Amino acid sequence: MALDTTSLGHRLDSLHAITRELNAGLNLDDWVLKRFLVATAVTVGASNASLFLLDSHGAFENAFFISNFKVVERNQPTVEAIMDYGLVGWIRQHQIPVLIEDTQKDERWLAGNNSNNLEIRESRSALAVPIKLPEQLIGVLTVTSPQPLHFTPNDLTMLTILADQAAFAIANARLYNLEQQRRRLADTLVSMARTINATLNLEEVLSLILDQLAYLVPYNSCSIWLYHEESNSLSIKASRGTNMRATLSFEAEKARQSLNYEVMMTQKPIVIADITEESRWFTEIGDDRIRSWVAAPLMVQDKAIGMVAVDSYTPQAYNEGTVDDMAAFAQQAAIAVANAQAVTNLKNAQASYINLFEDSTDAVIISNYRGQILDANRKACLLLQQTKDDLLECDIDVLGHSLKQYLRANAAQLKKGEEASLEIELNDHVSDPISLELIARHVQYQGRDCVQWVGRDISSRREVERLRHDLVNMLVHDLRGPVGNLIGAVELMERLLQTDMDTNRLERLIGLALKSGQVVRDLVDSMLDVTRLERGEMPLQRTMTDLSKIVEQVRDQIEPRAGAKMMTLVIQPLPNISEVWIDGGIVRRVLVNLLDNGIKYTPQGGEVSLEVSADEHTIVFAISDSGMGIRKADQDHIFNKFARVDHSSAAPSGVGLGLAFCKLAAEAHGGAISVESEGIPGKGSTFYLAIPLLHEPYD
Ligand code: ADP
Repeated sequence: MALDTTSLGHRLDSLHAITRELNAGLNLDDWVLKRFLVATAVTVGASNASLFLLDSHGAFENAFFISNFKVVERNQPTVEAIMDYGLVGWIRQHQIPVLIEDTQKDERWLAGNNSNNLEIRESRSALAVPIKLPEQLIGVLTVTSPQPLHFTPNDLTMLTILADQAAFAIANARLYNLEQQRRRLADTLVSMARTINATLNLEEVLSLILDQLAYLVPYNSCSIWLYHEESNSLSIKASRGTNMRATLSFEAEKARQSLNYEVMMTQKPIVIADITEESRWFTEIGDDRIRSWVAAPLMVQDKAIGMVAVDSYTPQAYNEGTVDDMAAFAQQAAIAVANAQAVTNLKNAQASYINLFEDSTDAVIISNYRGQILDANRKACLLLQQTKDDLLECDIDVLGHSLKQYLRANAAQLKKGEEASLEIELNDHVSDPISLELIARHVQYQGRDCVQWVGRDISSRREVERLRHDLVNMLVHDLRGPVGNLIGAVELMERLLQTDMDTNRLERLIGLALKSGQVVRDLVDSMLDVTRLERGEMPLQRTMTDLSKIVEQVRDQIEPRAGAKMMTLVIQPLPNISEVWIDGGIVRRVLVNLLDNGIKYTPQGGEVSLEVSADEHTIVFAISDSGMGIRKADQDHIFNKFARVDHSSAAPSGVGLGLAFCKLAAEAHGGAISVESEGIPGKGSTFYLAIPLLHEPYD
């Protein structure tokens, strides 16, 4: 039955029906468009029709065909040929309606239709109209008939009206889709922000980002890469759909040719519709099924802190629209990542501060400006001999000084950032007082204005200062006497030489001058020796030394000194050992030193003795006296440099270097020195010098 498709009434009805159908739903799906095409063909009395749709950039998007009122598919080459060269191509170029009365006489038709397709070849007349929005061509609508001269200008007008209706419907649908997409993006972003910002744990944030991204940009796998400034590298910190772990060091030339590097450097998203056509794609990083890829930088204040990338196994899965979505998403994600990173950094900083605080060799106390203690480290507890809990109950005056008052007076300066330094002494009246250098500075502690007190134990520094001071005093004391004597003797000699020549007096004076000079030289020598021995600059000169000779020399040196104090020098018979492998000169000086001390620290009329014993391995020299003795507490110190027990002016003079020298000399021989004394006056002390018996090495 032939349809009367030309009557005006019928056409208006059709137009009405088609328009209603086109505008029935907001979303124009393929089905609606195909029905539109069939209705259009019927309305203008055509048997075949086609509808080409273009995207917002004017590129091919989709095409529908009907042949004999039925929907048909056309193959890709045919579609492309019609699109580019045929009537559709012509309309795209000129954007005006066309009526072709006889296709075989019309170049506009023939150009694209050298196709093998029977229907196309059999189309003898055609109408084609642009589907246009005011500024944009969005498609081409064509109808054909097997008969030439089949269409009239009225048909063309009708088709134009239908095309306009379609244009509005398509534009609306696109807007609706765009709107839907925007809404989806906005919804996703809002829910993402809400979800992601619920945690500040970096790992959780990254994982949430990837979960949320799946709602917006479907992917097969995805990854978040973060940039590490110190190593100038980018590495995957979280991924989905793949277990990728990769790091790109931008120091390497190859990494600088990667797409990732480009995203980071240009700070712009990149979409690759088909990676098989992309030379920058690193096949070794991703799965070889990946076909399309899109990535966006994570931007925080003009800096790319990383990037988020998704991929799909389907080619052309992503396009410019995906890029926009990814960019908007990445913007939100970047903020969340940056926040989480900041919190992580803060936590790390806090952790290392706590370690620093606890492990500091200085005592550290935090107080508020009222002086109340809020925190204290291990060293502070140790110094103040209190538990941390006890200290938290105290105020800063626990340091034994009116620091609270000090704090009140100096609060303003501290708050300005000035540091205050003061010295205090901790005195518990049991052990020695501890000198502390205390530095106070303003800090923020748990968000509050506080004061950090750092106390450094400077007792040993003080002790060294005291020793240096004592040494100077002692040197003055010990040097002034002999140097005075020396000068006095020489002056007298000068006068004597001018007047009469009393040789006896002169000899006595020369003797005095020599003795005084010797004392000074000995003093300087012992200082030099100790220093050299300490620095290892005085290598031993071991020889096979006759033990009896050494002891003889010692006796010669000591006897007059003992005699001067009316003391007895006892030298016990020597063991049956003739020669020892030692530095004879040094051992002699050690023995002289120890016996000298015995004389020095024993009252007149007392006794000093030397006893030598030996076994297979060791020779031991025991030097005893009947003097004042040494208290146990002092026995540890006396071998230290400048250590002296009694500093009173009545004490025998000395600089405290003798025993230090003896100890170093014993150790240089591989031996040791020790003392035994009960510290009871009259019972004296015994010093032991033990030296291992070595044998002369054979050459
Ligand atoms: P100095 O005798 O120059 O002070 P030393 O190093 O020889 O230095 O001795 C260190 C300290 O050891 C002396 O100051 C003294 O107090 C103590 N001391 C050394 N020998 C004896 C001793 N035989 N009896 C008592 N005290 C001694």
